[in-house]
Amino acid sequence: MAKGETMGSRKRPDNEPEAKLEATKRQLEHLALAFGEEAGLHKPLADSVGGVIASIPEDVDLAQALSDRETTDILVHLLDQNRAQVERALARVKEGGYGMCEDCGHRIPAERLRYQPAATRCVECQGRWDRVNGRTA
Ligand SMILES: [Zn+2]
Repeated sequence: MAKGETMGSRKRPDNEPEAKLEATKRQLEHLALAFGEEAGLHKPLADSVGGVIASIPEDVDLAQALSDRETTDILVHLLDQNRAQVERALARVKEGGYGMCEDCGHRIPAERLRYQPAATRCVECQGRWDRVNGRTA
């Protein structure tokens, strides 16, 4: 009995978008939480600044502090946006439309999905969507 042959060499679908997306989501949530906490620490800044602003000799430090706060806000916002996109892709997996462009319905190239597992549009449609929505990312 010849067994152990490579018969039925079923290739495992190595694209398990769901697992990959879930992992990405967890990562984003973790990051957002970390940044959010940091932003929370910065929160009293406005209050404390309001109280001491008159006693600050140079507004350099203040400007620095404020811009740091802004950076954090932008980061949190970006993370949030990314997570929303990942969740969107996960929803597509569940409804069976993953890998298809949301707008034109064409198949999203596997190449693109490998780099951007959360992509729900083809490059052309995403580009158009980004322009319409004023996204620069
Ligand atoms: Zn498209």
